[in-house]
Amino acid sequence: MENILAEIVRRDPDQREFHQAVFEVMETVKLVLDRNPEYRRQAVIARITEPERVIMFRVPWMDDQGQVHVNRGFRVEMNSAIGPYKGGLRFHPSVTLSIIKFLAFEQVFKNSLTTLQMGGGKGGSDFNPKGRSDGEVMRFCQSFMAELARHIGPNTDVPAGDIGVGAREVGYLFGMYKKLRNEFTGVLTGKSLDWGGSLIRPEATGYGVVYFASEMMAHAGDSIEGKTCLVSGSGNVAQYTTEKILQMGGRVVTLSDSSGYIYDEEGFDEEKLKFIMHLKNIKRGRILEYCEEYPQAVYAEIDPGLDHNPIWTHRADCAMPSATQNEIIEKDALNLVNNGVRLVCEGANMPSTPGAAQVFLDNGVLYGPSKAANAGGVAVSGLEMAQNSMRLSWPREEVDNRLKQIMKSIHCTCIDAAEEYNMPANYMAGANIAGFVKVVNAMLDQGLV
Ligand code: NDP
Repeated sequence: MENILAEIVRRDPDQREFHQAVFEVMETVKLVLDRNPEYRRQAVIARITEPERVIMFRVPWMDDQGQVHVNRGFRVEMNSAIGPYKGGLRFHPSVTLSIIKFLAFEQVFKNSLTTLQMGGGKGGSDFNPKGRSDGEVMRFCQSFMAELARHIGPNTDVPAGDIGVGAREVGYLFGMYKKLRNEFTGVLTGKSLDWGGSLIRPEATGYGVVYFASEMMAHAGDSIEGKTCLVSGSGNVAQYTTEKILQMGGRVVTLSDSSGYIYDEEGFDEEKLKFIMHLKNIKRGRILEYCEEYPQAVYAEIDPGLDHNPIWTHRADCAMPSATQNEIIEKDALNLVNNGVRLVCEGANMPSTPGAAQVFLDNGVLYGPSKAANAGGVAVSGLEMAQNSMRLSWPREEVDNRLKQIMKSIHCTCIDAAEEYNMPANYMAGANIAGFVKVVNAMLDQGLV
């Protein structure tokens, strides 16, 4: 195992996020290898950490002033042992091959946990949609899809949204795919309702996080009701996490964006959340503007020079990080523990560093890692694919019930796998082991390909 991990670092020394994701999984699946010598003979670690295919391409596009720009596009098709590659597209200036590889790697295990037949992939670009007009975003998406279209398809690889890719971008990407291929298929998920989207898909990741958190709480003899929660981010995941916490009788007091965060001691209610959704989704404004409408709230800029993130310094019972990777470092984790947090359920992908995760485990915090807790989004994407194949739309209640059942089943799977390996209530170990075993067994069934 050590040799393989050293080889991964030697081959791609700059891919720090990818190494982090791989090391975290490998730390727990060592035990599985010890019980299954055949896995070592079959070199499953070397095989599962190497993407089946990496696609990198130039994305030229023209801004409203006639200036040409060139961005870089990525699609990492990581593993198709249990189904077509499935995973979102991220448009953000921080995107690199390392980020996309870490996300694709995590996606493999997450998709495996959903009980649906989906392999893992991820893609995106270092394009920054912030401050760009709709026309600029459309031209970028069209150029991106002009290349991507030749690599994807409803039975091959089905992208969706992620940071910077919402309903608007999915629409432009889908339109270009349809024109190029002359076919109307479920090649992307997260589509609008009128042309193949699924009810509950926009809500799915956030709702799923709260369903998962509520299962964790119930397992520990408690509930979300009456709990104060810290939520970071203010995009898709953060918004619907907040909405579901409110519906379950909890209280949310923080939200953030990449510039800063707001703390509203009174907590958000339906009306305040509506304001935030309009501000972020329609006006495409900054979270700071919340304080102009609700002056009792305080805003603090996030200072990158600070050795901790101040959003995690407030007294609370639960934290749902829903912005981006590594937003909770070890010091933040200690702050959360010292401020009474008993549950951390991850909406963002890999928001806690390995040191932070260890702090949670050492202090008996109920820790729901992203690959289990935020799997509701891709699960409903899987349901969108099923509806598209049947050319049917299921009612809202049906999709929501299926989502709840899937999150319940992921929770049971994590608990059972953790117990089987003598790590009771360790959701991180449970998610890694259960996700890994299913994919590896499928790979072995299919031979050396
Ligand atoms: P959105 O683009 O809708 O929102 C992202 C939010 O996070 C924004 O508030 C954004 O602020 C903030 N953010 C982004 N980058 C940073 C950063 N470097 N530092 C601080 N804040 C940042 O994305 P989503 O809500 O869809 O995604 C959020 C997280 O959830 C990501 O980790 C994503 O991978 C994960 N996820 C999303 C799923 C989905 O279905 N959408 C499914 C599973 C996981 P700003 O407005 O300033 O950019």
